[in-house]
Amino acid sequence: MTALLEARHVTKVFGGGLFSKTKNLTVALEDFSLTIESDPPSITAVVGESGSGKTTLARLILGLTPPTSGEVLYNGKDLRSLSSTERRQFLRDVQVIFQDPYEVYNPFYKVDHVLETPVAKFHLAPSREKARALIEETLHAVGLRPEETLGRYPHQLSGGQRQRVMVARALLLRPRLIVADEPVSMVDASLRATILDSLRQLNQKFGISLIYITHDLTTAYQISENIIVLYRGSVAEAGDVELVVKDPQHPYTRLLVGSVPLPDPSRTWEKEKMPADVSTRGSGATRGCKFAERCPYVMQVCREKVPPLYRSNPHRAAACFLLQDAPALGTEDMVKVFVAASPNGTSRG
Ligand code: SF4
Repeated sequence: MTALLEARHVTKVFGGGLFSKTKNLTVALEDFSLTIESDPPSITAVVGESGSGKTTLARLILGLTPPTSGEVLYNGKDLRSLSSTERRQFLRDVQVIFQDPYEVYNPFYKVDHVLETPVAKFHLAPSREKARALIEETLHAVGLRPEETLGRYPHQLSGGQRQRVMVARALLLRPRLIVADEPVSMVDASLRATILDSLRQLNQKFGISLIYITHDLTTAYQISENIIVLYRGSVAEAGDVELVVKDPQHPYTRLLVGSVPLPDPSRTWEKEKMPADVSTRGSGATRGCKFAERCPYVMQVCREKVPPLYRSNPHRAAACFLLQDAPALGTEDMVKVFVAASPNGTSRG
């Protein structure tokens, strides 16, 4: 079966172009591979601190920026070579929910506009009445009351309502994959659970796969089945979320799990001490483990070679020489460490 979406050995380097003011190259994402199968629908979290490459990954998957090397495939075809018909299908099948819903709204239009536009553009309803019925049904599906939502301007809705309208907007098109980029990071903690629940419903009721991109390990654990931990553009650890979060094997994942802000909700990973950005290198080349400068277990080999992903268990892998007795996993095989979603979903609330 052809995968719905696949990133194959994707690398993205910024800077150093003909008109660039700086000669420095920043490796935002390096040799990254990920497969989202057509079936069953899955929820995969991509977590990491700022600068880990997760937003670059979202933009690559959405076709908003081309990879420097490697390819992103939709139904087995490179995004850059889709025909206009395939591109239109891609734009319908793969939707996005951004961090700040307010930026998506035009303050001069009522919120109805963001829902009516995709209905008209993709001819989702044959009449105004049917369009209205579809919009109302979709708002109900994400827990919003149409009478309290439609006819209002964006500033008249709460942040949580605005974000749920964005979830409804994505759902209108009945996509097969939604890329949710920090969808709850600008929402009050009290509303996060309801938005996460709306996202979970998309997966369980509507069979939509999700790539949930976040800096927040707690929400990643709550919603996902599989997790990829990114460190400075490379996969540090990946696999079944229960295994990775409850028993992290990569020293970086251990640091993240150890810094989950349980007693003090104002403390987040992004406030953890970070050294200077070593991903900015003159040549863009990587020598050794990127985590070596921070790692308490660093060995000579860590400074000389890039650790491959070692598969320490059928459902997990970590890029660390501490696991070098385990078989190395090709990045293209990463899907093999992911658990298949159960029919009722395995996410936890
Ligand atoms: Fe630490 Fe070496 Fe593992 Fe990198 S490869 S995380 S430096 S032990």
